[in-house]
Amino acid sequence: MKFGGTSVGTAERMEQVIELAAESAGQSQVVVVLSAMSGVTNALIAGAEHALVGNMDAANAEVDIIASKHNRTIESLFGKLSSAAELSDEIAARLADLKILYKGISYLGELSKRSLDAVSGMGELMSSAIVAKLAGKKGIKAEWLDARQFIITDDTFGRANPRWDKLTAKTKQVLSPLAGTGTIAITQGFIGATESGAYTTLGRGGSDYSASIIGVATDAKEIQIWTDVDGMMTADPRIIANAKVLPAVSFQEASELAYFGAKVLHPLTIKPAVEKKIPVRILNTMRPKEPGTLITETVDSNDFVRAIASKKKITTIFISSPKMLMSHGFLAKIFAVFDKYQTSIDTIATSEISVALTIDSAEFLTDIVEELGEYGDVRTLEDAAIVSVVGRQYRTQSGIAGRVFSCLKDLNIVVISGGASDINLSFVVASADADQAIKRLHAEFFPQ
Ligand code: ADP
Ligand code: ASP
Ligand code: MG
Repeated sequence: MKFGGTSVGTAERMEQVIELAAESAGQSQVVVVLSAMSGVTNALIAGAEHALVGNMDAANAEVDIIASKHNRTIESLFGKLSSAAELSDEIAARLADLKILYKGISYLGELSKRSLDAVSGMGELMSSAIVAKLAGKKGIKAEWLDARQFIITDDTFGRANPRWDKLTAKTKQVLSPLAGTGTIAITQGFIGATESGAYTTLGRGGSDYSASIIGVATDAKEIQIWTDVDGMMTADPRIIANAKVLPAVSFQEASELAYFGAKVLHPLTIKPAVEKKIPVRILNTMRPKEPGTLITETVDSNDFVRAIASKKKITTIFISSPKMLMSHGFLAKIFAVFDKYQTSIDTIATSEISVALTIDSAEFLTDIVEELGEYGDVRTLEDAAIVSVVGRQYRTQSGIAGRVFSCLKDLNIVVISGGASDINLSFVVASADADQAIKRLHAEFFPQ
C-alpha cells in the first residue's frame, strides 16, 4: 500500500493511512510505502538550490518551513505524549543533517545529483517515522524499515535503477520475519541506496515505483497506489472537472497514459508489475470505499478512446537535410546522437529528408543540437506539449484521427505521431495550447 504526499499531508490523513493499513493487515501481510508530506520534497530541493547560490537565509527558511510542518503534525497527533518529544528530536536531528548538507553545497558552490539525492530523500524518512509512531500509539503492530537497507539501486543519481539481483533477496530477508505476525512494515518510497551505501532516489514521483518494486520482490498479491483522486481518469481532473474514473485499465494503457503525462502513476510503476502480472490498484485515501481503478493484463472495453493525457515542457527538435534525399543511414546517425547522450525520444515523425522528434530531458540539448548540426539544419521548439489520445484498436478503426483533428482545427499542431502503436495517437502543440486541446478532445470523446 503506497500513500502519496497528500495522503500523508496532515495529521488527520496520517490517521486515515494507518487505519486503512490496519484493516488490510487483518487479511494479508502489508507493506506501507510512504511519500514525503506534500510540499516537503519541493522544499528540500528549493533549499539546496538556494544554498548553491549562497543564499543560506533562504535555504534555512526552507528548513524552518519543513520543521514547522512536521512539528505541527506531531503536536496534533501526540500532544504531550513522550513519543512527541522522541519524534521532534528525530526530526531535529534529520534537519540538523540537512543544514550541514546545505552548508556543504554552499561552501563548494556545487550541487551534484548525488548530493541532491541525499537532500531530497529526507522527507520520506520523516513522514514514515511519524506514521510508524502513530501505529504504536493506536496499538497497531508495525515496524519502521529503512528502505535504503533493501532498495538497492545502481548509481544513476536522480533516477536510479533497481539492482534486482541484490534487491530481491534483501527485501525478502527484511520482510520475511514479519510474515504471519500481523505486523505492518512501514517504509519509504522514492529512496534507495547503492550497494556501497550511497543514497539514491528513483526520480520525482518515484514512490509509486518503489511500491511496485517491493511488490515484485515479494511476489505481492496486489500493489495499491493510494492517492488523492478516485482512480485513473479519462483526463487530469485538474484540467477536466468532469473527468470520469476508469474502473479497469490494461497494463499497456496505464503505461502509455503514465508515460505521456497522467501524473497519478509514475511511468515506471507498471513495468515490474507486468512481468509478474501483479494487479495494480489505484485508490483514494480520502474516499476509501470508492472502487478505484484496477490495472491488469487485459481489459474488455467497447470504448475506442479511453483517456487523454498531456506531457508539458518537452522539447521538439526538427532536423532537415536535403543531402539525405534517397540516401540511407540518416535516421541511424541521428539516433546515435541521442543514444550517446542517453536521451530518450518520446515521439517521432519523419519525411524523406526531415525528422521531427520530441525529448523530455533537455539536459544535453545544446550538445545534441550541435552534433545533429553535422547532418542537417536543426531547429528546436521549447516549451511544447505532447497530447496523447490513448485508446484501442486504432489501426482497424476508421474515423478516430478525423475526429481528433477536426475538433482541433484552429490549433497549431506541430508534429503528429500515430500508427506505431495500436493504442496511442499523439501530437505536439505549444504548451499554452495543451489544456485547450484536452478540453476539446474530452468534450468530443466523452460527452456528458
Ligand atoms: P501522489 O502524491 O498521491 O503520488 P500525484 O500528485 O503524484 O499524487 O498524482 C495524483 C494527481 O495526478 C491527481 O491529483 C491528478 O491531478 C493527477 N492526474 C493527472 N492525470 C490524471 C488522470 N488521468 N487520472 C487521475 N489523476 C490524474
Ligand atoms: N516525494 C517524492 C516526490 O515528491 C516522491 C513521491 O512522492 O512519489 O517526488
Ligand atoms: Mg505521485
